[in-house]
Amino acid sequence: MREIKEQLTIPIKGEYDVIVTGGGIAGVSAALSSARNGAKTLLIEKQFLLGGLATAGLVTIYLSLCDGNGHQVSFGIAEELLRLSIKHGYESACGDWEDKYCPAWLEGGSIEEKKKKRFEVQFNANLFAILCEKLLIENGVEILYGTSICSAITENSKITAVITENKSGRVAYTAKSFVDASGDADLCFLAGEKTVQFKQGNVLASWYYEHLGDKYRLRMLGFSDVPDKYKTNSKDTTKRRYIGLSGEELTEMMINSHSSILNDFLKKGGITETHALGNVATTPQIRMTRRIDGSYTMNDEEQFKRFDDSIGMISDWRKAGPVYEIPFSTLYGNNIKNLITCGRSISVTEDMWDISRVIPACAVTGQAAGTAAAMSDDFSQINIAKLQEQLIMSGVILHTTEIL
Ligand SMILES: Cc1cc2nc3c(=O)[nH]c(=O)nc-3n(C[C@H](O)[C@H](O)[C@H](O)COP(=O)(O)OP(=O)(O)OC[C@H]3O[C@@H](n4cnc5c(N)ncnc54)[C@H](O)[C@@H]3O)c2cc1C
Repeated sequence: MREIKEQLTIPIKGEYDVIVTGGGIAGVSAALSSARNGAKTLLIEKQFLLGGLATAGLVTIYLSLCDGNGHQVSFGIAEELLRLSIKHGYESACGDWEDKYCPAWLEGGSIEEKKKKRFEVQFNANLFAILCEKLLIENGVEILYGTSICSAITENSKITAVITENKSGRVAYTAKSFVDASGDADLCFLAGEKTVQFKQGNVLASWYYEHLGDKYRLRMLGFSDVPDKYKTNSKDTTKRRYIGLSGEELTEMMINSHSSILNDFLKKGGITETHALGNVATTPQIRMTRRIDGSYTMNDEEQFKRFDDSIGMISDWRKAGPVYEIPFSTLYGNNIKNLITCGRSISVTEDMWDISRVIPACAVTGQAAGTAAAMSDDFSQINIAKLQEQLIMSGVILHTTEIL
C-alpha cells in the first residue's frame, strides 16, 4: 500500500482522571461507576446517542439477570440499567416471542414464579438512550459526542493521551487511566495492547422495526451467532460471515443489511394502511470482532468456578443453569498498565464470547472497569480486595456460593 506521512501538532483540550472510549452499555456503566467513585470522567462517543448496539443497533432486548432457575446472578448497575430501560414503560414488540416483561422479578414474586420467566425486558431504544444520557449527566460524567478516538500516545507502558477527531479537527485528551468500551477493542489496538480477532466472523443481521397498525414490532433477521457447536440449524454455518474491522467491509455489511430489510419489507406488502417501515439501525449489527488478549482468558466450561478476583456474575442467555463469575484479570492485558476494557471485548474464548457479549454482562464488566479506573492507573497491581469492597458497596454480588 502507498503511504503518506502526516505531521500534526495536536492541542490538548482537556485533562481527566478517567477517559471512557465508547458509550454503549459497557461504556455507560463504566463512566457511571467511575464518576460515582469520585473520578473526573470523560466519555467519548463517536455517535450522537448513547447505548451503542442496544439503542442505535436496535438490539432492544435486555437479556437475563437470572440463571433461569429463579436466582438473580447479575446485580448493581446491570439491574439499575435494566430498570431504567423500562422506567417509562416496556415494549412488547418482539414478533412471535413471549412478552418481554417479568413482573415476578420486577415487582416481587416467589421463586416458583421466577423460575417460569427469566429476568429480562424489552425496552424502547430512543427512550433508553435519552435516560442513560440524563443519568450520566446527573452523576457528573462529561459526554463528548460525534468524536472518534483515532490514536493513542503511550510512554513507559502507559497511555498518556488519546487523539480524537470531530468537527473541531484533531485534539488530544489526557487521563490517568483509560477504559476501552468501544466494543471492538479499538483503543487496545491503537495503544499497542495485544488483541485477538474473532475467527468465525458474524452472520448478517438486519434487525429493524416495522409498524403494524397500532403496533411497533421488532423484526429479527439474522437471529443469532451461536457458535457452531451449539447450532441446531447447520445451514447457518454456510452463510457469508463478517469480521467487522474494516471500513469497507462494514459498509458492505450495512448495504447488505439494508437490502435484506427492503426485501423483507416488500415481501410483507410494502407501505399499506397498517404497514410501514419503522427504524433501521444506524450502527452495524455486529456481535464479536476483536478483544483484548487479557491477563486471563476465560472459557465456557468455567461455569460455577470460583475466581478469587471475581467482579460479578453473569448467566448463559441461551439456557437455564450456568452461572459464571467474571475474573478481573479478563479485563486488562499485559502491556499497557493503565488501560482496561469491558463489554464485548473482554478476554474470553470464542465459545465464551457469545455468553459474555450480551447487555447485562456488558453492564457487569463496565461497572468493574469504571470502578477500577477510578481507583488505579496500574490494573495488574490493583488492590483486588478494595475493588471488590467498592463493588459490593454498590450492590454487586461476587460469588455463586452467595446466591445458590
Ligand atoms: C444482531 C445482534 C443481536 C443481539 N441480540 C442481543 C439481545 O437480544 N440481547 C442482548 O442482551 N444482547 C444482544 N446482542 C449483544 C449486545 O447488543 C451487544 O454485545 C452489547 O450491547 C455490546 O455493548 P458494548 O457497550 O460492549 O458495545 P457497543 O454497543 O458496540 O458500544 C460501543 C460504543 O463505542 C462507540 N465507539 C466505537 N469505536 C469508537 C471510537 N473509536 N471512538 C469513539 N467511540 C467509539 C460506538 O459508537 C458504540 O456506541 C446482540 C448483538 C447483535 C449485533
